[in-house]
Amino acid sequence: AFNFNAGPAAIPLVVLERAQQEFVDFRNSGMSIMEMSHRGAIYESVHNETESLLQKLLNIPAGYKVLFLQGGASTQFAMIPMNLLGAGQVASYVLTGSWADKAYKEAKLIGETHIAASSEADKFMRIPSLNEIEVPDNAAYLHVTSNETIEGTQFQEYPSTGHVPLIADLSSDILCRPLDVSKFGMIYAGAQKNLGPSGVTVVIAREDLISSSPKTIPTMLRYDTHFKNNSLYNTPPSFAIYMVNQVLKWIDEQGGLTAVEKNNREKANLIYNTIDHSNGFYLGCAQPESRSIMNLTFRLQSEELEKKFIKESEQAGFVGLKGHRSVGGLRASAYNAVPYESCKALADFMAEFQRQNG
Ligand code: PLP
Repeated sequence: AFNFNAGPAAIPLVVLERAQQEFVDFRNSGMSIMEMSHRGAIYESVHNETESLLQKLLNIPAGYKVLFLQGGASTQFAMIPMNLLGAGQVASYVLTGSWADKAYKEAKLIGETHIAASSEADKFMRIPSLNEIEVPDNAAYLHVTSNETIEGTQFQEYPSTGHVPLIADLSSDILCRPLDVSKFGMIYAGAQKNLGPSGVTVVIAREDLISSSPKTIPTMLRYDTHFKNNSLYNTPPSFAIYMVNQVLKWIDEQGGLTAVEKNNREKANLIYNTIDHSNGFYLGCAQPESRSIMNLTFRLQSEELEKKFIKESEQAGFVGLKGHRSVGGLRASAYNAVPYESCKALADFMAEFQRQNG
């Protein structure tokens, strides 16, 4: 299948095959990794190696900790203000689309909020430019959504926020390109797009932000619980973390994030070029300077034609090209694991569909 699902999304075939080989008997233990104690030496080595691999790939500086949490990125929407928004402070958000809006609405349930910039007037089809973003002095943090999975927009550069920690939801673009982690107080991502299967959420945070949470927060929702216990306070999603470990090794084998970015740009260009050279048959949704290299959104002239496109694409072996139900249209999610060949096949299919229906 040419899998363009938005999430859970494709996992590299070689990773699935390796996991299959180790599935029943992990490292000659006579057991599957998912049957092992999370306090045992074998699991712990996988757990710690997964953190080291992330440190290596993202070049994470000293003073940052990687956490493996549950509850998805959606739980981070609440944990961030619960842990970090103090009295007399505001939680500041850049509103770029559906996911930023969800994060912002969770923060509103917890305390005072502020909108640092918004592209709602442009139907969220662009990322606000850096000089539109205003961060108040009493902001506890500035939250951005690095890549809007539904609208298909992506930050090309991130704001500098001075003493205010910058927090980013990278659920749909973590590891798609190199990242200067030192610019951020915290980044987080549900694993199920670029990191592995659903069930684990990766948080990478400056240690000073997560080492002492307000005492009123329930234990599992406190960052300091997980920081002090190396994400082993309770039973972690061990199998999902093992799969993330395998995906990270695969990224390393590809040549790291510089090589991954080059491949992702070539993949995205195939499809954006097809859109841009279609004389208006295909219409890109996002404004060109805000286009995502992970989620490529486009439309056809009518919903009827879009339905036909989806039907015929499915018959041709393409999966997941229907746009999100809230915005309609079409969306190709070309995460790291989607091969160049799948994008080439899609570009060819699009050209042929235009030839027949244009
Ligand atoms: N943030 C972004 C940018 C997403 O794309 C998603 C899911 O698609 C989420 C948050 C929610 O993640 P989860 O399902 O892990 O809660």
